[in-house]
Amino acid sequence: NVYWYGNRYVSQEEVLISPEDRGYYFGDGAYEVFRFYSGRLYETDAHLKRLWHTAAGLRLTLPFTEAELTSRLEELVRRSGAADGNVYLQITRGAAPRAHPFPKGAEPVVMAYASSVDRPLAAMETGIRAVAVEDIRWLRCDYKTLNLLPNVMAKQEALDRGADEAVLHRDGTVTECSASNLMIVKDGTVRTHPANRFILHGVTRAVVLRLARAAEIPVLEQPFTLDELASADEIFITGTTVEVTPVVALNGQAVGSGKPGPVTRRLQQQFAATLPS
Ligand code: PLP
Repeated sequence: NVYWYGNRYVSQEEVLISPEDRGYYFGDGAYEVFRFYSGRLYETDAHLKRLWHTAAGLRLTLPFTEAELTSRLEELVRRSGAADGNVYLQITRGAAPRAHPFPKGAEPVVMAYASSVDRPLAAMETGIRAVAVEDIRWLRCDYKTLNLLPNVMAKQEALDRGADEAVLHRDGTVTECSASNLMIVKDGTVRTHPANRFILHGVTRAVVLRLARAAEIPVLEQPFTLDELASADEIFITGTTVEVTPVVALNGQAVGSGKPGPVTRRLQQQFAATLPS
């Protein structure tokens, strides 16, 4: 992969991150994962908006404008030579001797690369298995920060329990998944947790809700419980890399018929129609 680092395009060996980087010490930084299709970035503006939201929340001054960042990302996509893939971008507060206060004079450290990643067509077709895991994250899950340890623990617990993804809940209220948002369908209505501090405001979530409304599928952005989750007709997850993926088993029990449901299928098709080709 080609990396954007130190305002140059370099190989991985030339990315020299200090052991005193605050990303390494504290997870003190922001990140984004962008998707590109046929060499074109998807929903760039929504990702940029969220990155600036995270940076404002972390009081991190981004060392580029939106236009500068966009052209860097486009250049990475070009240099990767890939048609479909991801761009990973992270910005830390920089390197300084280990101490909690924001360091004076440290410069943010930016690193990004594009890699070829195929669309998850198999999982989208057959669906995945999920299990409920307690959401032990902090109260600003709307910031896309490098502090992903609770997400890592939840994902590993899901895998250890023979599933693919963890559905997170706070005291029985479903929030989202370890690396995706979650939606249920009940009696034809699509329901998902509101975009507040308890979830990441997914770019894909917003696209899917827009598509559902345009198709006159009723949408409810209201919290729901684990019991409501268990009695849903359909469950699916949304995310930049998972797109719209059905959940066909929850805690070892079939969801609905045990096959991806009709509303999920419809939204998958409509989502696919929004992708650059
Ligand atoms: N929720 C979490 C915790 C995530 O890490 C992600 C990232 O993929 C999402 C939701 C989905 O967001 P997006 O659709 O912007 O990729």
